[in-house]
Amino acid sequence: MKIAIDGPAGAGKSTIAKRLAKELQFVYVDTGAMYRALAIDFLRRGLDVKDEERIVAAANEDTVTLSYVNEEQQVFLNGENVTAHLRTEEVGNMASASSAYAGVRAKLTASQKKLAEETDVVMDGRDIGTAVLPDAEVKIYLTASTRTRAERRYKELMEKNGTAPELSVIEKDIAERDDRDMHREAAPLTQAADAVLVDSSTLTIEEVVERIREIIKEKTGL
Ligand code: C5P
Repeated sequence: MKIAIDGPAGAGKSTIAKRLAKELQFVYVDTGAMYRALAIDFLRRGLDVKDEERIVAAANEDTVTLSYVNEEQQVFLNGENVTAHLRTEEVGNMASASSAYAGVRAKLTASQKKLAEETDVVMDGRDIGTAVLPDAEVKIYLTASTRTRAERRYKELMEKNGTAPELSVIEKDIAERDDRDMHREAAPLTQAADAVLVDSSTLTIEEVVERIREIIKEKTGL
């Protein structure tokens, strides 16, 4: 069984996908973390984000694998556990830009397809329903307004660091990231024809999970 959850940054995909995977006892695969792991390597090699040839060559030398400790996904870059280093601004920016290259996507898409062949998955990302698992039994396109996503990010940063950029700065950054994801040539972010749209702008996490549980039940009887 394959459940694909796509949508823009900050819509709540990982929180929701994690909960669903736990309830269903499926494996949760955060594909963004795989793009971030490669980005760590590109940064360590000092590559220029515009240098597609060298970035794709590096991606093809790298191995990104996943394992699970207490149901938490751990990401390995060439055998090194890089999970603790994935969530920095620098890595996020490199991941966002380098994921536009078809050669980078081809590398990770192949391993994501393989993962889904081996086990039941809830996989989240930008191109899961369209490119990675076009035959997924359930496809969700989870979104929220840019303002809502910016407010959530602001709250998260304040709770974590006690400080955050102005809301308008965060909103602008989110809009730019959306633009890059939606307008790249290779596997752009778009709602698959057979995906169900869920807008989380005015819903709580519990309400979103409940809505998606209903959709899963309708589609699969699970
Ligand atoms: O979801 P997350 O922010 O961790 O993803 C990091 C970056 O990887 C995103 O900015 C997005 O551009 C890219 N990505 C992608 N395709 C996916 C998952 C993430 O292009 N399936």
